[in-house]
Amino acid sequence: MNLEKLEKWKSALNKCIRCGYCYEHCQIYKATRWESDSPRGKLILLYGLLSGQVSPTPYVAGKLFECFHCNRCQKACSSGVPLQDVYNDARAFLKDAGYDVPGTTSQTDYGACARCMTCVRMCKHEARTCVNGRVVIDRLKCQSCGNCLDACPVKGIDIGNGYGTNPGELKREVEAFFSDPAHTEAKAVVFSCGWSNYPGLQHSRYDKLDANPEYKVLVTVCGGRVVSETVLDALNAGAWGVLVCCCPEDDCEHGGSARVKARMGRLVETLQDMGVDPRRVQVAEVPPKDAKKFGAAVKGFMDEVKALGPLEAAVAP
Ligand code: SF4
Ligand code: SF4
Ligand code: SF4
Repeated sequence: MNLEKLEKWKSALNKCIRCGYCYEHCQIYKATRWESDSPRGKLILLYGLLSGQVSPTPYVAGKLFECFHCNRCQKACSSGVPLQDVYNDARAFLKDAGYDVPGTTSQTDYGACARCMTCVRMCKHEARTCVNGRVVIDRLKCQSCGNCLDACPVKGIDIGNGYGTNPGELKREVEAFFSDPAHTEAKAVVFSCGWSNYPGLQHSRYDKLDANPEYKVLVTVCGGRVVSETVLDALNAGAWGVLVCCCPEDDCEHGGSARVKARMGRLVETLQDMGVDPRRVQVAEVPPKDAKKFGAAVKGFMDEVKALGPLEAAVAP
């Protein structure tokens, strides 16, 4: 087994003091609360590979390929471990060793694919290419941002395990929030980009926000993943309004902020034609980690929505 790609990170792996500052920021760990799903757990698995105590398996490779590339763990690391560079080399090693597992990367349903190459053209990370008329995904380049999913005209792209961020998972969370008889004050949903503000809210602060009885905060990875159906589902579930928090357009590495702003603009126009006040669906651009601005955006939105009152009519998805 050629561990050359990993050997150079031995000292970096030894720098990890297991403080756990990284894992509070990780959406994958937040979804499962399993050590092996945390950024620190990934490092421990790699340490095991290097020391020979862990053998490469599809399970180990899956843990490494499950990542939303938000880089929050690296920024939070108290010991300066370059987690993303370590992970990238580990993924390359595992792929070379034959463990080409999807993890959280996007996958194409070739039975459905119309070979339009829209996904190839729109991916900011050049993770998709056209080879002999067929889409090929480079798992080492895919950032799991999910922007190609909605761009595909035949809905032929999927991220297998979204760790709470796929549209179906968001819908279930929203419905659970509004159908819980204990949530008598439930009024709104806030969808938040996972690259910027949401993971910046560590558990202690996030739990305080999440505990607000009037709204539910849900992470979407890139804000560009919020589709109109998800917003309509929230309104139909009982939300008086929906706020989408994304990065400022210039800060979004995936092109998602521009996409969600345009999409929500079109949705608001349609809703207005149906007599729905446009203030019920809003987009706020929040700079990365700016919890103060995030809080202010949510408060401003909630004040407007509460003044509007409940949405009486159902809106067709
Ligand atoms: S980059 Fe983000 S998703 Fe990936 S391990 Fe780090 S915190 Fe988790
Ligand atoms: S758009 Fe995002 S999810 Fe799709 S292939 Fe590119 S990086 Fe991966
Ligand atoms: S956008 Fe969808 S249909 Fe078009 S090439 Fe990509 S996967 Fe196939």
